[in-house]
Amino acid sequence: MSIDTHDLIAPADQQETAQVTADSGDQAAPAAATPEAEAVQAPAEPTGPTFASLDLPAPLMAAIDELGFITPSAIQARAIPELLAGRDITGVAQTGTGKTAAFGLPLLAAVDPALRKVQALVLAPTRELAMQVADAIESFASKMDDVRVLPVYGGAPYIPQQRALRDGVHVVVGTPGRIKDHLDRGALKLDDIRFLVLDEADEMLRMGFAEDVEEIFGQAPTKRQVALFSATMPPAIRKVADHHMTDPVQIAVTRQASTVTAVRQTYAVVPFRHKVGSLARVLATSDADAAIVFTRTRGAAEDVGSALIEKGISAATISGDVAQKEREKIVERLRSGALDVLVATDVAARGLDVDRIGLVVNFDVPGEPEAYVHRIGRTGRAGRTGEALTFVTPHERGKLRSIERTIRAQLEEVDIPSPRDVSAHQVKRALGKVEARREAGRLDMYTEMIRTYA
Ligand code: AMP
Repeated sequence: MSIDTHDLIAPADQQETAQVTADSGDQAAPAAATPEAEAVQAPAEPTGPTFASLDLPAPLMAAIDELGFITPSAIQARAIPELLAGRDITGVAQTGTGKTAAFGLPLLAAVDPALRKVQALVLAPTRELAMQVADAIESFASKMDDVRVLPVYGGAPYIPQQRALRDGVHVVVGTPGRIKDHLDRGALKLDDIRFLVLDEADEMLRMGFAEDVEEIFGQAPTKRQVALFSATMPPAIRKVADHHMTDPVQIAVTRQASTVTAVRQTYAVVPFRHKVGSLARVLATSDADAAIVFTRTRGAAEDVGSALIEKGISAATISGDVAQKEREKIVERLRSGALDVLVATDVAARGLDVDRIGLVVNFDVPGEPEAYVHRIGRTGRAGRTGEALTFVTPHERGKLRSIERTIRAQLEEVDIPSPRDVSAHQVKRALGKVEARREAGRLDMYTEMIRTYA
C-alpha cells in the first residue's frame, strides 16, 4: 500500500499556524518554534482567506486558477498582503509550505513587463532549487505579457546565460556565485531591481555564499523590496536582515505543523555494526514509494549504497563527488519511479524536491540540528505525509536530545523490523495480489505451484 496523498497542500486554516510580528529592532524573527512564537501565535481562523481576498493582479489570479491552487497556505496568506503593500519580510518557512508562491506572486506583481530589464532577483543556494523556483515563477507568470524568467547557476556554460541576459529578462533566479560572476563580467546589471529574494538563506550562508550575497546587495539599488526565507533563523541570518532590510515584517510558520503533522518522526537505537542490516530491513518493510538515506560523509554514502545493492536493493548514491549531470539523471530516475532508494550526503541532497519520497532515514545522526530539519523536509512534500527515522547509536542519545530541543518535539522510539517482519511483509505483499490474480483468472497456476512446493 502506498502512502496517503492529497492533491493540494492544506489551506491556511488547516495547515500551519503562522505568526506575524512587526519588527521591533532587537526582536529578530523567532525560529519557527520558540516560546515567543507560541505566545503570540495568531488565533486559528474559522475560515481561511481566499486568493481573491489577497488583491493579486488578474493575470496572476488566472495562473493560480490554472495551477489549481484553491486556498492560500499560511505563509502565503501572511506574506502576500505585506509584500504587495511594499514591506520587507523575513519568513521562517520550510519547503513544502508554499513559500515559493508566497514571494513569487508579489514579485511578479512588482514587475513591469514592458521594461525588458532585470527587475527581480531571487538567490537560491543550489542549482536544483534555482531551477525549481524559476519553473514555479514561470508558471505563475504564464498569463502575464511575455515575462521572461531566467535561471542561472554554476556548472553550466556562461555563454547561453550571458546571451539570455543580453536579450532581456525580467526575473533572474540564481546561485550567488554565478550571479556574482555575471555581475563581474558586466553581463548582469542590478540598476532596475525592485525585488530581491533570499531563498533558503540559512543554506546559502552554510554553503559559504555570505560574501557573494553581501556583494550582490551592495550592487542593488537601495530602494528595493527584500524578502528573506529560511528554515531556521541563526544569528548570521538575523545580521543579514538587520543590515539589508527595512523594518521587516516577521512571519513564522510554526514548524510543528509543517513537519510534525506531515512527517511522523521516529528514532531507533541501532549499534553501529547493525546499521546496514537494519536499514535493509527498514527499506524492505516500508510502504513508502521512495526513500532517501542520509549519511554524514561521502565515504559512508558510497559504502551504504554499495551494501544495499549487494543486498539486492536498487539504490543510487549522490555525494559531492558525483558530477552535476549524473546527479540530475539520478534525481530524474527517482522522480520517475525508475529508482526508489537514494543514498546522499547533506550537501548533495540540498533543494531536492521529489514528491515520491515517503521515507527519510538518517543513517547517521546529522551534525547539527538544523541539518535534521532540512533532511526531513525532503519528505511530507506537496501535501503528502511522510516518515523520518533516525538511527541513533547508544552513545548518541545526547545528540537526539539536542535535535528534540531545536524542533521542540519528541521523536518516537520505534523498533527495527526483524527478519521475521520482513518475511511477513513479503507474504502480505504477495497475498495482496491474490485478488487481482483471481480476477484475471490466473490464481489456479499459483495454487498449483504452492501445492507442488508444499
Ligand atoms: P513550495 O513550498 O513553494 O516548494 O511549494 C510546495 C508545493 O505546494 C508546490 O508543488 C506548489 O505548487 C504547491 N502549492 C503552493 N501553494 C499552493 C496552494 N495555495 N494550494 C495548493 N498547492 C500549492
